[in-house]
Formats: sequence, structure tokens, C-alpha cells
Amino acid sequence: MALSCLSNTGGSMRTLHKFHGGIHPPSNKAQSTRTGITQAPLPSRLIIPLQQHAGEAAKPVVKEGEHVLKGQLIGIPEGNISGAIHAPTSGMISAIDAQKIAHPSGLPDICVTLMPDGKDEWISRETTDYRNKTADQLRDQLRMSGVVGLGGAVFPSDIKLQCGTKKIRTLVLNGAECEPYITCDDMLMRERAEQILSGAELLRYILGAEEILIGIEDNKPEAISSMRQAAAGSCSRCEVIEIPTIYPGGGVKQLIYVLTGLELPSGKLPTEIGVQCFNVATAYTAWRAIAHGEPLLSRIVTVTGNVAKPQNFEVLIGTPVYELVSHAEALPDTNGYIMGGPMMGLRLLSDSVPLVKASNCIIAASERLFPPAPPALPCIRCTRCVEVCPVELQPQDLYWFAKSREFGKAQTFSLLDCIECGACSYVCPSHIPLVQYYRYAKSEIRARAHEKQNADKARERHEFREYRIEREKQEKAEKLAAKERAALAAKAAKVEEVTDTIITASSKPAEIDIGINMSHTDKTEAVTPKD
Ligand code: SF4
Ligand code: SF4
Repeated sequence: MALSCLSNTGGSMRTLHKFHGGIHPPSNKAQSTRTGITQAPLPSRLIIPLQQHAGEAAKPVVKEGEHVLKGQLIGIPEGNISGAIHAPTSGMISAIDAQKIAHPSGLPDICVTLMPDGKDEWISRETTDYRNKTADQLRDQLRMSGVVGLGGAVFPSDIKLQCGTKKIRTLVLNGAECEPYITCDDMLMRERAEQILSGAELLRYILGAEEILIGIEDNKPEAISSMRQAAAGSCSRCEVIEIPTIYPGGGVKQLIYVLTGLELPSGKLPTEIGVQCFNVATAYTAWRAIAHGEPLLSRIVTVTGNVAKPQNFEVLIGTPVYELVSHAEALPDTNGYIMGGPMMGLRLLSDSVPLVKASNCIIAASERLFPPAPPALPCIRCTRCVEVCPVELQPQDLYWFAKSREFGKAQTFSLLDCIECGACSYVCPSHIPLVQYYRYAKSEIRARAHEKQNADKARERHEFREYRIEREKQEKAEKLAAKERAALAAKAAKVEEVTDTIITASSKPAEIDIGINMSHTDKTEAVTPKD
């Protein structure tokens, strides 16, 4: 469905599009936007996971006991899809070992522990004018600066900026920030709009995009105003577009559709429809990396919920959650923490886990704010979940398939297109934790695909071995046959030679006779005088 909306450029009208479904949960954003972004104090230690991005973990390039400077590379990207990791401050590496991290599995992962020396002493940094560099050089620099998507997916930005032969017409900047409680992008846009816009120009330069569309939900009037002001002064062919507030309007597919009317087909990337999308914080970080030579060392994190001073902090990557929340003063009845928003976030098993590049928000939970979910009841086929699903799936069918372990059917019903937004669970009158079922089914499908991949590889290896043995056999047989043929040929050549000699001999009888006679005569003549 299309609707008209006023965009910024000269008051012209831009047609916006409405995606299917969506919900309006209480936003709970006002609490954390009353004060500006605060720099969080240097923590007592930093725990820096080497896997903070999609793809391969970084490989450590420092040793225990080594002194490092702020911004120094401590983990080098491994493989094509990976990200670099840097020391967020100067200090001493005290350990490289498995530590608790924020992950649904609850399993630890390899982290570098850094004890700050309090000096916050930088490595030398280079400022760069991106217009003097090629797109390849800039992508390399972003890779080595550890720039990844800060909207949640943490996909390495250098990979998203590689579009091959695909022509990118539109660069979409995602400032929607649709999930309740989270306000880090809102505050970043209010306070650092010019640098976000400079980052947008940089990304456009690398992509060769024609236009920049910046989508911001209409519940952030200060951010919209600040971004429009910055865009008017510095960004050409760039529109800051106010979009209706609806969850999950910040989903990539949903935002692209709202702004352009283009639908992203299942399993396809935005680049296949001539669009690429980055979060506003990613654009800001890319700008800091290129223009100021600063790798990704910190990010803005909203600390809210059951705390006395909800606000946004600029926090060093690796800061333990308990240290950060202490600055916002968690209330005594806090019964846990959520990393991310209440819809898609992760309930932490421990508050000693570190903040990572993906951590946009920490919500202190309490029974009052998040009462325990009532027991799940049977599905009554009310189809409320169908009405709100932004991907137009059949959540109740997916639930049945996941519950009965019919994963093939779940896949046929496009389970893998589910963005796990939780809108279906939110409206379900039977309180069924639908998203948990989908996550479980997806992990089973991935595990089976992985097993199949391994089995296919083993089969290929076996088939190749059989083929090699057969080929070696054939080669041996061919060599033997060739040897035999050569021997026969040699034999035949010898017979032919002998035959030729005989034939030659028999074709000259007179000469032979003469020869014999002559020799006989010679002999006679020679003997005769002596006699
Ligand atoms: S979690 Fe998945 S199935 Fe449920 S509403 Fe969101 S996209 Fe649809
Ligand atoms: S909203 Fe809940 S009860 Fe209603 S159809 Fe969906 S899963 Fe069933």
C-alpha cells in the first residue's frame, strides 16, 4: 500500500509505501533521551572477543604481557568475511583465553583481556581525504579498521561495499531505530549529524550510488531536524525522510520497501535490486575510520529500564556490562539484563560479559517492567500473528512445523525469511513463544545443512579417490599396452630389416655370382703364380 509523505528536499512530496503488518508496542524511548551522550569512564579491564562480527573470528596478533596502544591491531581478519579487532585503550594484555560472552548458546569464546594503563595513549593516526583514494583502497582500510554494521547484524562493511558489476542506484541510511527502549541512533543523529552525513557521502562514493535516502521514524523529531540541517549544508542528492513509526520499520527489507517501493525477493541481497543499506552509526564509524584514522573502538550504548539514570553512553568495546550499568545506577530490584531491545534482544546469563560492536542497548529488567510470561496455551487459530507478520508468513503454521520437527515443511513455508522480529509472539493471545520455536527450527535446519555439506564433501572425496584409483589403473594399463606395442613394433622393424636384407640379396644374384666367381678367379689367379 502506498501513502504520501513530505520529504525534506524543497518540500517536495515523496510517495512512501506501507509494508504488511507491524505493531505499535510502547516505545519507552523518552526516558533515555533527556540527557546528551556521556563518555563512560575507563573501565578497570576490557574483555575483547575476537569474534564480534559475521564470518570468521579475527586471529590474535598480540601476546600475553605485551603492552599495546589505543587503536593498535590485536586481531587480524581471517578469511574473506571477517573483521579486525583493536585495543580500545592503551595498557597490558593480561590474557588471551576463553571468557563468558553474550551468546544464546551461553558458551564462552576466545577473548583478549586488556588492563588499561590509564594513559589512553593512541597509536599514530593518519587523516585521509577519501576522494584521493580508490574504492578498493577504502574498502581495505575499512576492513583493517574493523568497521562492521552497527545496526545488529555486524556484517563487515567492506563486504557490503563490494557490489561487483551490480549498479547501485540508491544508498539507504537506516535511522529508523524502531525497537522500543533503544535510542542510541537517535542521540547520535541529534549530536553528530554532520559526521553521519560525511560518512554517507563516503559510502556513496565507494558504491557509486546516485542518491541517498535516510529513513527516520517520526517519533524522533530532533534527530530529523538535525539531520535535515546537516544534509542541506553538505549532502547533495540526499533526502532525510520522515517515515511512520511502526515496528519493525527498521528491518532492511521493510525500510527499503517503505522508501522505494522495491520488494526484496526471498533469499536475495538488496544489491540485486540496485540498493544498499547501512545503519547511521555505521556511516559515522566509517567516516571516523577513513577521515580520522580511528578504528572501531567504541560505540553509543543506551542504558535504560530499571535504572535511576537512563541515558546513552559512548562506551569502549570490551567494557563489562556491570561496569557500564553502574554509571546508570541499576535499581535494587533489578533481576537481570537484556542486551538489545525487548523484542529481539538477548537475556544475559551474566552481567560480567563484555559489550561488543553489536551492543546497542542494555536494559535492566525487573518483574515490574517485564513480568514473567503466562504459561503458553494451545493455538486457537485466531490468525492475529498472520495479520502482523511483516514478511507475510503464516506464523501459526511455522509454529506447528517447528513443534512437530517437520523442518522441511517449515522451510517450504519460508521459515528462513522470518526476521525474528517477535511481532507474532507479541500479539499471540495464547502467549506462545513463537520466535523461540522459529530459532530452534532454524538452528536445526542449519545443523542439518551443515551435516549434509560435510556428508557431500566426504562423498565427493570418496568419489574422487575411486576416480583416481581407476584413472591410475587405466594409465598403468595404457603404459603397459604402449610398451607392448613398442616391443611389437621393434620386433616388426627387425623382421622387416632382415626381410629387406634377404630381399635385397635375392634381387642381385648376378652380382653375387660375379663376386663369387671374381673372388674365385682372383684367388685362382693369386694362387696360380705361386704354384
Ligand atoms: S518473528 Fe517471523 S513469523 Fe513472527 S512476525 Fe516476525 S517475521 Fe513474521
Ligand atoms: S496468534 Fe497465537 S493463537 Fe493465534 S493463530 Fe497465531 S499462534 Fe495461534
